[in-house]
Amino acid sequence: MKVSVVKETAPGERRVALVPESVAKLRATGLEVVVESGAGDAAWFTDDSYAESGASVVDRAEALSADVVVMVGKPDDATLARLRAGQVLIGMLSPLTDPDLVRALAAAGVTAISLDMLPRTLPRAQPMDALSSQANIAGYHAALMAATEYGRFFPLLITAAGTARPARVLVLGTGVAGLQAIGTARRLGAVVSAYDVRPETRAEAESVGATFIELSSVGAASGAGGYARELTEDEREAQQHELAGHIARHDVVITTAQVPGRRPPLLVSEDALKAMAAGSVVVDMGASPLGGNVAGSVPSDTVTTENGVTIVGADHLPARMPSAASAMYARNVSALLRYLLSDGALVLAGDDELTAGVVITRDGAIVHPALSEQASQPEEPA
Ligand code: NAD
Repeated sequence: MKVSVVKETAPGERRVALVPESVAKLRATGLEVVVESGAGDAAWFTDDSYAESGASVVDRAEALSADVVVMVGKPDDATLARLRAGQVLIGMLSPLTDPDLVRALAAAGVTAISLDMLPRTLPRAQPMDALSSQANIAGYHAALMAATEYGRFFPLLITAAGTARPARVLVLGTGVAGLQAIGTARRLGAVVSAYDVRPETRAEAESVGATFIELSSVGAASGAGGYARELTEDEREAQQHELAGHIARHDVVITTAQVPGRRPPLLVSEDALKAMAAGSVVVDMGASPLGGNVAGSVPSDTVTTENGVTIVGADHLPARMPSAASAMYARNVSALLRYLLSDGALVLAGDDELTAGVVITRDGAIVHPALSEQASQPEEPA
């Protein structure tokens, strides 16, 4: 069976789905691996290094003709048009927020496997958990960006030229990315507080060195599968209002809140920004064209409010650390391939919870329950 890696086409994407180390390991399982020329360039994995690991370096057309095509993100229209029925596509396809792509993949007869749909709480899914591997990188990088933008020190510094007090950092959302942001800010010497709408995250946040904040106006909002549920409008308003008081007492805020399949919740309102001191920094990891966790954040851009608060629209952070992110993603993909591989072929057993969780289209149909339900529902206003 031939597995191929193609060059990503999304703007700013620098990751590659397999790195030379993973190619060598996959070849040891009997798979043939081909790599599109230049696929790893932006992450500093050269064609030569793939060839040395046993891959054939080919052009895009040949790479796209393999039995299994592996990507990091989604295929663009031109890529999609070249896929054929029966081919397997593996990537992080964001199917919950891109029903058009799901329909197109089904119409093309492609067997699409979306790593971001992995049932992450299954112990055997851990090595394949690309959302966690990439969130870890994003959380780390968000803390570094905050430190770079902040015009003062993160640690307590006592010098002959004076003493700097440590920065007060608030992390909103303490999932995988938030916990890594807390740990990184702490390692840089900041005093860190954290908040999440799932109170069960308190112990984890405290274990990496944050003081956990509880809001009296919003109750627990734990949803299915270890995720948060979407808040009601009343809850959202109460949350924003009460959070504003805490935000004003911090120098740096890093927001990481997500609700699967929904636009990110707004946590830092315009009023909250107005109450922050000049020179404060807010890093919005939820920044998206639909709006992020922070009012006025612009994806992939940095803006400053009239009262001197810097807002960093920190989307696509894993692509900013492309070597580490690619290496971790490649291990996740390789683990999935090895899991599905039996006698040299991918076996997609519908009665296996993990497999059923990631396969979204097959034999011309949308087969994932969450997506076929969504496809049969009328479209919600954005
Ligand atoms: P995520 O990226 O979906 O969200 C990040 C955080 O934002 C979450 O902690 C969420 O509770 C929080 N959030 C959402 N709405 C919010 C709001 N309005 N206000 C404040 N916070 C809000 O989450 P994630 O990092 O992907 O992880 C979600 C959970 O899944 C975590 O508990 C994680 O530990 C768990 N998980 C478990 C496993 C496992 O069991 N092996 C693996 C991976 C993740």
